[in-house]
Amino acid sequence: MKRVKNYLGTFPLIQNRPLQFFSMIFFGLMLIMGIYIINNSNNNNQANIASTTEFSVSLPEFTQPTDAPTTTKVKSIPVKNGTYYQYTGATIYHSFYRAGKKAGLNYHQIHQLAQMFGETVRPGDHFSVLYQTTYKNDKKISKGNIVAAEFTDNHGQTRHVFRYTDPHGHAGYYTLNGQNIKPAFLKYPVKFTRISSRFSLHRYHPILHRYRAHLGVDLAAPMGTPIHAASDGVIILAGRDHGYGNAVFIKHSYKLSTRYGHMHRIAKGIHIGTHVHKGQVIGYVGKSGLATGPHLHYEVRVFGIARNPLTVKLPHAKAITKKQLPAFKRHARHLMAQLQAEQQHSWA
Ligand SMILES: [Zn+2]
Repeated sequence: MKRVKNYLGTFPLIQNRPLQFFSMIFFGLMLIMGIYIINNSNNNNQANIASTTEFSVSLPEFTQPTDAPTTTKVKSIPVKNGTYYQYTGATIYHSFYRAGKKAGLNYHQIHQLAQMFGETVRPGDHFSVLYQTTYKNDKKISKGNIVAAEFTDNHGQTRHVFRYTDPHGHAGYYTLNGQNIKPAFLKYPVKFTRISSRFSLHRYHPILHRYRAHLGVDLAAPMGTPIHAASDGVIILAGRDHGYGNAVFIKHSYKLSTRYGHMHRIAKGIHIGTHVHKGQVIGYVGKSGLATGPHLHYEVRVFGIARNPLTVKLPHAKAITKKQLPAFKRHARHLMAQLQAEQQHSWA
C-alpha cells in the first residue's frame, strides 16, 4: 500500500492494476444504484418526507394523520345562564399547537394545556378537555379557560388537571390530589442572551487565573436588564459582597435561598427584610465585583449548599389547603365525571 495525495487528502491506493480497475467499476455501479434507490423512495414517500420536515417531531409510525381519531365535538353542557362547558380532544401527532388547533382550541387554551402537561409530547399522546364557553342568543361569544383536562400518553398513563377557584377568588390548576401544577420558581430570573458559564465545582476563573468552584450559572445579558426575584421570599442581603459585587440574596423557605451577583445597581426599595414576590424586579444586570462583562451570576442554595440552578428540583406553587381539599375533590370528581361521560359519547 502506498499513500497518494489527491484533492480529497491522502488515501491508500490499491497497487494491483486490474483490481484497481474492477473496484472502480464496482463502486461506480454502487453509486448509480444508490442514486436510483434514493430517487425511488423519494417518490414513494413524498408525503412522509414533507411531513417530517415540516413538523417539529418526526414520526415514522404516524404517517397517516388522516385516518387518526380526530377531534370530537359534543354538545355543550350547560353550567349556568349563558355559560357552558364544551368538550373537545385530539391525538397529538406533531405538537400540542397543531393538535390544539385541530381540536378547536385558541392560543390561550393551548398555552394552558402546554403548561399543564409540559411542552414535550410524543406522537400518539391524547388529550381531552372541558373548557368554558359563553353563549348569547345561541351564538358563541367567547372561549374561556380550560376547566378540566385529561392527558393520556402513548403508554396509556393518564393524568388529570382541574381548574379551581378558592374562596378568596384565586384560580389555579391542580392535580387530582390538590397539587399545584405551577412552579413556584421562575426558570430564569433574567432575560438573557446566553449562558456564559455553567455550574461547576472546578472551573478556571478568568480574573483570578486559578481553579475554583463556580457555584452558580452566569446569564449574559445587556447592561441594565432587569433581574427578577426567582420566587417569593425575604431579602437577606442587599449590598456589596466581595466577588459578588452588588448583590441580593433572598431566602425563600427554611431550606431554599437564591443569590444574584454582579448587579449594576440594586432596585429601589430592596433592603434586608423586604418581602418580595416571584418576578419582582430586584436589580439590574451589571459587571460589579469579579466579572469580565455584564451578566447575572445566579445561585440556588438548598440548606446553604449551592446546587446547579439549571437542574435542581424546585417546589411547585401552593397546593390546595387541607381545609379546601374536600371541596376541591368534590369539584374535581364532578368535572371528571362530565369529562368521561363526554369521552364515551364521542368514541362510541
Ligand atoms: Zn458566575
